Amino acid sequence: MDIYTVREEFMLKFLDLYKINERYRKEIDTRIKEVLDSGWYLLGNQDKTFEQDFANYCGVKHCIGCANGLDALTLIIRALGFKQGDEIIVPANTYIASILAISENGCTPVLVEPDIKTYNINPDLIEEKITEKTKAIMVVHLYGQAVKMEKIWALAKKYNLKIIEDSAQAHGAIYQGKRTGNLGDASGFSFYPGKNLGCLGDGGCVTTNDDELALKIRALANYGSHKKYCNLYKGINSRLDEIQAAVLDVKLKYLDEDNEKRCQISKYYRENIKNDKIILPNTYDEKAHVWHVFAVRTKDRDEFQEYLKNNDIQTLIHYPTPPHKQEAYKEWNHLSYPITEEIHKTIISIPISPVMTEEEVKKVVEVINEY
Ligand SMILES: *Cc1c(COP(=O)(O)O)cnc(C)c1O
Repeated sequence: MDIYTVREEFMLKFLDLYKINERYRKEIDTRIKEVLDSGWYLLGNQDKTFEQDFANYCGVKHCIGCANGLDALTLIIRALGFKQGDEIIVPANTYIASILAISENGCTPVLVEPDIKTYNINPDLIEEKITEKTKAIMVVHLYGQAVKMEKIWALAKKYNLKIIEDSAQAHGAIYQGKRTGNLGDASGFSFYPGKNLGCLGDGGCVTTNDDELALKIRALANYGSHKKYCNLYKGINSRLDEIQAAVLDVKLKYLDEDNEKRCQISKYYRENIKNDKIILPNTYDEKAHVWHVFAVRTKDRDEFQEYLKNNDIQTLIHYPTPPHKQEAYKEWNHLSYPITEEIHKTIISIPISPVMTEEEVKKVVEVINEY
């Protein structure tokens, strides 16, 4: 019952966060010193600069920093003004945060099975779930792959629904020439340290092209206030620190480079891992996937994980238990989403990161091919 992860030492780590950030230590040090010297630690120039730079990167009008990815999604739903009983369609195969953001607002999450090829929500299964109460579709660009939006855009138009993106795993992925964060009405990002763009603690943001929504979200995240001591809404306190914004602004410059390295490793894995027991991930478009994780499937997942561990390769499972089987959603435990459950039973993520060396990548391939 310990939420603090025990640090296990592996020769080949799943993700070496020290190495990731060490590459930019000089720049990060300079920017953190700037914050310290400024005497201004919240909602200042660093926030403003990063928000502008990230909005430009995503190709959107607005970026609003907040405390984490869950808050970003929660704030979007809150700002859209949905009420108790309103339904929001969401993939059954996702990290629980996507769904918690809906519940937190008193809305009803309506789960939809994924496409086994992409692991993302299956657009063909959405329409049958739309009712009078449906207000929005939340898409999750899982593992770093942008959801194929074409059919979802058409459904949103036909039924007058909002589209919310959960882009927490897909900073920089491109669908039909547009980046995630610019594929719906509003998008939530997380800057948790292990994400493709991560800070040195918690952080998140919302991106949108909607002026009014942007204004409302900015107020909601700041006690419901646009102006000091003038409260329009019953808001929350969810801000991105100046220090985190400064760090993110440094790392944003290297995001495309880092994503490119992930893509190269993914390509190498997909071309060189040859083992009948392992199902490799794929993508419908190389630009659409930024490989936040490289998740393979195998029948005896636990045995495979143990085998890799014995070869000093660290793996993680994204995720071991689907949201509808969690104690937190007891009311759903009896439901069956067979594709989601199959994925959760067989999935395992092998190391992929911009700081992996060529030898490390080759070793992973060799070890897996010998399994
Ligand atoms: C990480 C993540 C979140 C939540 O982000 P936090 O910053 O940890 O709150 C939401 N959705 C998905 C898909 C994620 O991977």
